Amino acid sequence: MSIFEELESNVRSYCRSFPVVFDKAKDEYLYADNGREYLDFFAGAGALNYGHNNEFIKEKIIDYLKSDRIMHGLDMYTKAKEDFIQSFSSLILKPRELDYKLQFCGPTGTNAVEAALKLARKVTGRTGVFTFMGSFHGMSMGSLAVTSNKESRAGAGLPLGNATFFPYDGGPFAELDTIWYLEQVLRDTHSGIDTPAAIILETVQAEGGINVAGVEWLRRLRNLCTEHGILLIADDIQVGCGRTGPFFSFERAGITPDMVVLSKSISGYGLPMSLLLLKPELDQWAPGEHNGTFRGNQLAFVAAKAALEYRRESLLEEQVMHKEAYIRQFLEQQIMPLHPALTMRGIGLIWGIDMAGVPDPEAPRKIAKLCFENGLIIERAGRNDTVIKIMPPLMISPAALKEGCEIILAGMQTV
Ligand code: PLP
Repeated sequence: MSIFEELESNVRSYCRSFPVVFDKAKDEYLYADNGREYLDFFAGAGALNYGHNNEFIKEKIIDYLKSDRIMHGLDMYTKAKEDFIQSFSSLILKPRELDYKLQFCGPTGTNAVEAALKLARKVTGRTGVFTFMGSFHGMSMGSLAVTSNKESRAGAGLPLGNATFFPYDGGPFAELDTIWYLEQVLRDTHSGIDTPAAIILETVQAEGGINVAGVEWLRRLRNLCTEHGILLIADDIQVGCGRTGPFFSFERAGITPDMVVLSKSISGYGLPMSLLLLKPELDQWAPGEHNGTFRGNQLAFVAAKAALEYRRESLLEEQVMHKEAYIRQFLEQQIMPLHPALTMRGIGLIWGIDMAGVPDPEAPRKIAKLCFENGLIIERAGRNDTVIKIMPPLMISPAALKEGCEIILAGMQTV
């Protein structure tokens, strides 16, 4: 029995899919202490859009470390934070004419979701939140309450209050006009459902099975929120930071959420950081009202600034568009013909092969395992984990992308 099995809590999960000890990683590859190399189509669940130990970002981190400037700042003003805010403003907000204030939350994504939910309730004086089936927003109590997966919520004891779930656009609910239904619910004084403080949304449900909301659907949702004074919170924790191409996933619909939550790849180096963007008029916090010790890790600020520069210099958005075209063609031409029950969904560099209709319910698990044995790290998502989730680092080389696709093809041919 390994020391992990002996002493680490049973709650650990990813190590069960990838049962080796990793010791090194560079760009799109990971290396285990058994001497094997693994190509990464998982990207730290979206935390490593710029790859492992990205050279450009690493140099800035090393310079900073060498100059003895690490300090624990809580939310004090520091130079590293100032530099990051300036870069975020000039490289991300201003070119898009976005008017947001920045709130640094606790170290991980769920903390920013908690902040957004709390603020929505405070500002509107309402308590309810509308959310979508298939959603994942985090594992602390507030974000878990708006997460649709019952198994995820089971650890907290069911039910958690104040959340109403609606069918999403795309995926298993593609046939339903949810916006029309929401309109009916909100106008019908007899429905028993009060106007919520907020609607929380992933424009692409990642953990939910790579369900991509349509552009028109997103626009109608934005309009509905405006009409009813409901705050729209975009959770871009997994599909932001360029995963779909543009920096924010909602840009393709030309909508502006009232709040946006970011984490995972915002620091660019897998360092913990989470950020809430809020429209200035919503900044109704009293000082210290949403506090926490680990907000604003200095090294994460340095890495996050470097990541924005790397993104610009490497023309990452264009790169994603080319690689998206490659994956789409690969799936259409080589994977879909393998079995009539297969479906595919995706955008940018997040794609799913849905195997829900395949007779062997164990097939997705077996394929992911086979891929791992053949040197590819790939995860599953969606209802009953039937979706093979393709999510490489955005900077992956075309040769490595091809290599990973070939491993998937070899696995899928066993269906
Ligand atoms: N929101 C989305 C869309 C996520 O994918 C995740 C994590 O996977 C979270 C929130 C929670 O982030 P964290 O695990 O950093 O708390």
